[in-house]
Amino acid sequence: MKRISSDGRIYAFSPENPPADSVSQGEEFVVECSDCFTGTMTADDLYSADRWESVNPATGPIEVEGAGAGEMLVVDVVDIKIPDGGLMITVPGMGALGHRFDHAETKGVKIAGGVARITDKVTVPVRPMLGVIGTAPEEGRIACGTPGPHGANMDCKLITAGSRVYLPVNVDGAMLALGDAHAVMADGEVCVSGVEVASEATLKVASVPRDGWPCPCVETDDSVWVLHSAGTLDECETGALDAAADLLVEKGGLSVNDAACVLSCVGDLCVCQVVDPLKTMRVRLPKETLSQLDIALP
Ligand code: CA
Ligand code: ZN
Repeated sequence: MKRISSDGRIYAFSPENPPADSVSQGEEFVVECSDCFTGTMTADDLYSADRWESVNPATGPIEVEGAGAGEMLVVDVVDIKIPDGGLMITVPGMGALGHRFDHAETKGVKIAGGVARITDKVTVPVRPMLGVIGTAPEEGRIACGTPGPHGANMDCKLITAGSRVYLPVNVDGAMLALGDAHAVMADGEVCVSGVEVASEATLKVASVPRDGWPCPCVETDDSVWVLHSAGTLDECETGALDAAADLLVEKGGLSVNDAACVLSCVGDLCVCQVVDPLKTMRVRLPKETLSQLDIALP
């Protein structure tokens, strides 16, 4: 199986980045990703702003052969392997509780037997997920830490083994890049980090006609979640709901009033993260509802 090394990495998504490697559609491949500190931090180091240059690398970009601008990239997350330890940081002024810290700490988190030990008493089952996954925007340079319509640092805990991510193909080849794995992270990622780990992600990709689908989306076993990132949670909520309603109206033939009623009953609205330069929310479209409306999955 092809392995793509984390030596080919970007810190900003851009159509100008030369491909680090290329893959064919349908081929399974492994992507090695360093942690969100590019492996430069240990539990003995404190995070400070001068590390910003080495934060949130993404391995890639990976050119997807035959993916044409205007299509949609469907990324199957087959597996995410993580090591037996990770890091968490708390830094005054950073994250949703940053106003409470009078000093910074870096916590080394041991992982064994499927659980991460967060404190002496608190252990949490691991659920490895990818914080950063995205494609090149049509133009410009967007730091990997900033989420947007092209994906990137969405920090959605549902991007785990077994899920699929729908991303826009803005330029030929899609130019996929990913990283920032977390052994476990809750909705919100309130302390500004999950359990930050290096990772080896096994993926499979295909490009399909966009066919009216919003991007980015995350497909799980029972639902498709529409994601939206914006400066405030209010804007995230409106953006995600607008995109979900458009799908139900345009592909499902519902009136906008009916689409709103359906979303009000099945469209769970959840926070992905509140700590990145833009925040991210997601709204649920159950596969059962999509099937009742004859909306075929990509
Ligand atoms: Ca992240
Ligand atoms: Zn992270």
